[in-house]
Order: sequence, then structure tokens, then C-alpha cells
Amino acid sequence: MNVVQARQRPAPVGIAGLSEAVIDLSAIRDNVRTFRRLAPRQDVLAVVKADAFGHGAVPVARAAIEAGATWLGVARADEALQLRAAGLTAPLLTWLYDAAELMLLGDMDVDVSVSTVAELQQVASVPAVKYVHLKLDTGLHRAGSTPDQWIELTRAAARHEALGTLVVRGIWSHLSHGDAPDAVQSRKQLQLLRTGVLLARRAGLMPSVLHLANSAGAITLDAPEMDLIRIGAGLYGIDETGIGLRPAMRLMSKAAQVRRIRAGEGVSYGHDFVAERDTTVLLVPIGYADGIPRVTAGQASVLCRGVRMPVVGRIAMDQFVVDAGAVAVDAGEPVTIFGDGSQGEPTAKEWADWAGTIPHDIYCGIGTRVPRRYQEATR
Ligand SMILES: *Cc1c(COP(=O)(O)O)cnc(C)c1O
Repeated sequence: MNVVQARQRPAPVGIAGLSEAVIDLSAIRDNVRTFRRLAPRQDVLAVVKADAFGHGAVPVARAAIEAGATWLGVARADEALQLRAAGLTAPLLTWLYDAAELMLLGDMDVDVSVSTVAELQQVASVPAVKYVHLKLDTGLHRAGSTPDQWIELTRAAARHEALGTLVVRGIWSHLSHGDAPDAVQSRKQLQLLRTGVLLARRAGLMPSVLHLANSAGAITLDAPEMDLIRIGAGLYGIDETGIGLRPAMRLMSKAAQVRRIRAGEGVSYGHDFVAERDTTVLLVPIGYADGIPRVTAGQASVLCRGVRMPVVGRIAMDQFVVDAGAVAVDAGEPVTIFGDGSQGEPTAKEWADWAGTIPHDIYCGIGTRVPRRYQEATR
């Protein structure tokens, strides 16, 4: 163990300095290209909500556009404004906003989703907002117009178009079985959307972009008349349909301290782990406040010096401990928490399984104390 050497290094600036999320933007580009290849008739709308699932909205949006995505999508108004402020000019759709945010959205040329006549009136009363996408609820039962209110909504929208107050650029819906595709349900939703589009045309609307599918739906649902596929999970390498996507985020930390403990000694709060034999443990300075799920204690492992080492004892707010066993480790040794799995490290999917959740949740949970560093793959 090399304590002296560790002490000689400049003091890290806070614990976060010891950890980082390395984002490979070439993986993002490759993933966009994979969808373009597999769904050549559709344009890609890159979903960069929630800071691009924790990957960083602006760099990811730029990479997606470079790879041929033509639209951007975010959940919330503030996320849309952030992209515009960074100079991204691609058509951009947001689907959750407050009436008070509409003026700014309009000024920044952001398209908004509209589900009800009341929302339509709100939007129409803000002259800056031009483009809307009418959303039809085809079965998710979250946002969207109910089918029985759809004709009224489309007629009201057509009246506004005639007055020049807004343009219905899109008609859309969202799949209910998006991440575990259910072909029957998805086809039923597509059929309802088709009917909705027909009724909208009958009301006089001429939407130029129709869209339904998310990442998995883009692969599993045959919907040739749709113009856009809204790709979120797939951008980041969450590969729900096995199409060879590449995870873009690698979460790294370092062995901040290395210590020997004797058989019978406990580690971390409550001594949930007691060493059965003399061993070496590493302190990894990242914890549940940074998005390491506390519930994974007892299951999780990380990669250090090419070896999977189990996380032992409770995961704390800022740190956890791993058992290095007989592996010789110096303080400062890199620790891979997750990556694309190519070196034997866990993937975000594996962490998700340990935590009883989905990789989306793992990525989005990586906290603001973890700096993001952007890197191109050296392959
Ligand atoms: C998050 C989201 C998407 C992206 O779905 P993925 O399964 O992550 O590709 C698409 N559309 C809407 C409305 C969303 O909220």
C-alpha cells in the first residue's frame, strides 16, 4: 500500500473530484446511426430530457444532431430553454410546461404539446407560440386528449390555424408498453393514432410530423407513415431490443483509502458486513447522494485492477467500501462502478437489476456532485 504517495498528490477539491462520469459522445452518435439504419424512413427526435438521462443535455444534443437526428425533445420548458440558450437551433418539442412559461417558449421557437382545448386556448393566447403538436391518448392514460374529446380539439385547432394564431405541426401519442414492447397493445395504439390523424385531416389540419414510437417501439412497431421516432433510452445505449447499442456513460471513482482489516472486524454503519478473514478494503468516495443505490448493498460489485470486488457493508451518503480480498491495490487506483461491460465491469443494467429498477433510473440518478467529462472513444 502506498499511503505516502497518496499523501503527496495535490489534495482533491472535495470528494466529487475523486469521481467522474465519462461520457463517450461517439457512442451517442453510433446509437443515433443505428436507429437511422434500422428505421430509415423515420427521422430521429433525440430525447434529451432529465439532462439527457444524466449524460448532459447540451453535449448529447449536439452529438445527436451531428449523427443525423433532426429533432430534439425534452419533458420540461426549462430544459428546452437550456438547449436554446446553448445555441441549439433544431426543431424542439416540449411536453410539460406551465402557462407562465409559454411566452419564453414561444420566443425561443419551441414547439409545445397540447392535450386539451383549455391548453389550446392558453397557447393561442400567447402570440409568440407558433407550433403545437396535438397529443392523443391512445392508451397510456397519462397526458393526451381522450378519444372522445379529440374531434373537438382538432376542430378548435383548425379554427386557430384559420385565424393564424398557431400551426398544428405535429400529431402524436406515446406507447404504454414502450420498454417491454407488447406488439398487440402497440398496434392497437398505432391504429387509434391513425384514426386520430384521419379525423384531424377531416377537420382541416395538415400536420407535417406524426410520431408515436420511443426507442423500443421504433424497432418493434411497423409504422411506415410515422415521420419521427423519439429516441431516449437508445441514445444512451439502453438496449431493450438487442440491436447492438453502446452504453455511453462510464462511472469512475478511485480508491481513496486502502486498509487492512482483521477477521471479525465490521465495516461501515451497523457492521452489516463482518470480515470472515483478514482482508484489504478500499474506500470508494461516492455514495447514495451521488446516485449509488443504497439498496444494492450486499449485491453490488465494482471493477478495480481488472477484478470484480464486492461492495461490503452499507452504502453511505458519500462513500462505500469494497473488499479487495488478496488483490494488491494502491490508494488512488481507479475503480469502475459501471461501464459498457467490455472490461468485465458491471453495466448500468446490472446495477439496475441489483436495485430492482431500470438503467434509466441509474443514469438519471447520478448526482450533480459527479462531474461529467466528455471523451471520444479511442477505438
Ligand atoms: C422519455 C420519452 C421518450 C423516450 O422514450 P425511450 O423509451 O427512453 O426511448 C419518448 N417520448 C416521450 C413522450 C417520453 O416521455
